[in-house]
Amino acid sequence: MTKDERRKTKDEYDLIIVGGGMAGASLACALADTGMRMAIIEAVPWQSNQQPSYDVRTISLSHGSRLIYETMGIWQQIDPQAVCPIYSIHISDRGHPGMTHLDRKDAGVEALGYVIENRALGAALMNSLEANKNVDLISPATVSEVDVGEKLATLTCSSEGEELIVQSKLVVIADGGRSGLRDKLNFQTSVDDYQQTAIVCNVTPGKPHQHCAYERFTPSGPLAILPMNDRRCWCVWAVKSGDVDEYLSLSEQQFLEKLQKEFGDRLGRFSRVGKRYAYPLARNRVSETISPRVVLVGNAAHTVHPVAAQGFNLGLRDVTWLAEVLAEAHNESQDVGALEVLQRYEDIRAKDTKRVSAFTHGMIKLFTSQLVPVIAGRNFGLLVTDMVPEFKHALLKRTMGLSGRQSRLARGLSLKQESVYSRD
Ligand SMILES: Cc1cc2nc3c(=O)[nH]c(=O)nc-3n(C[C@H](O)[C@H](O)[C@H](O)COP(=O)(O)OP(=O)(O)OC[C@H]3O[C@@H](n4cnc5c(N)ncnc54)[C@H](O)[C@@H]3O)c2cc1C
Repeated sequence: MTKDERRKTKDEYDLIIVGGGMAGASLACALADTGMRMAIIEAVPWQSNQQPSYDVRTISLSHGSRLIYETMGIWQQIDPQAVCPIYSIHISDRGHPGMTHLDRKDAGVEALGYVIENRALGAALMNSLEANKNVDLISPATVSEVDVGEKLATLTCSSEGEELIVQSKLVVIADGGRSGLRDKLNFQTSVDDYQQTAIVCNVTPGKPHQHCAYERFTPSGPLAILPMNDRRCWCVWAVKSGDVDEYLSLSEQQFLEKLQKEFGDRLGRFSRVGKRYAYPLARNRVSETISPRVVLVGNAAHTVHPVAAQGFNLGLRDVTWLAEVLAEAHNESQDVGALEVLQRYEDIRAKDTKRVSAFTHGMIKLFTSQLVPVIAGRNFGLLVTDMVPEFKHALLKRTMGLSGRQSRLARGLSLKQESVYSRD
């Protein structure tokens, strides 16, 4: 839609999503068949390489997230060259004997999860939205104000030097972990700074990875080596934030030596490393994710440590449940911005969010402690998990994103306008 067309239209939507990153774009795709009129407002030019959500990183998506994207028709559009399945997961504690091994055979699935290039996922989401007539893409445009009225919310945006005003029944804030709008709208946020920074890069191991994802806990933070195509691996290494400049300025050889020392030689000698990028790590929590005509999703609602690759998998579950609740309300001609509708969503999501946030936070506290009884306890825990099928099964379910209540999209059911919704 051009700017002139925008000025001519009334610019009133059922819902406006602020942020076209992974969470915002996925929500619009999930609601694509519901007949709701939507707009996505994204600060960075649409399809630009600068898009921060679809940057050079790769992301591990769980088996459950794959099922969701399959129902939405997005999975089928992701470039297969950019997807590497995870057949097994190896968890270890550096310098100690505890370890657990999870395998797809124990779960009876094709893969426990998938390592996907963010850009490829972004391309599939953006292409799908461009083809959808129910969604207006307003980009580049930055939302600066949200005024909530009795029947509508009014958003003020700046778009290429011009002011733009749009209105909707509901505003979905999906503007990421450093959400400016969350604070402006007075959502109370608490932050736990891990004093860790993730260094991410490609590395080439000496031996084939055989589709195994390694999670190794070290005293400075967890180190993940994940399988990629072309015999490469993706490295996510949490180091002390005070040391990050040193790690980034090391020569390739020096960096690989340090990595080798922490990871060991399960994959032979690392021979090459790609460009290194750094992401400071913190946990963000909000006391409420809703207020009248406003809801937070994805990283705007919660940011967790990347250990165990839970962050966006959690955000995608938010998206599917929000889509389901909104589609049901829209189908029954209810006001999608009404607090009682949003409350249904929050009631469903609160438990999963708290559990994942506490689980990832607890893992970091547990595995960075150097107290002898804690080290002994966690190694015992890893060994017991490896040996007791019930424990292993519970961990597998969580890793695959299959614990707890599953949304319609996760169960392969569409949200089409005419569908009958159940609240089971
Ligand atoms: C090192 C690292 C590794 C990770 N690995 C994994 C993993 O393996 N698996 C996993 O599930 N998760 C992982 N995560 C978490 C995952 O990256 C995030 O959960 C995900 O990117 C959040 O997506 P989002 O759309 O909520 O936010 P973002 O990706 O931050 O997107 C927000 C969007 O909003 C736009 N925006 C911001 N402000 C405005 C505004 N005012 N107006 C308009 N637009 C605006 C931005 O341009 C951006 O496009 C990892 C995170 C890190 C840091």
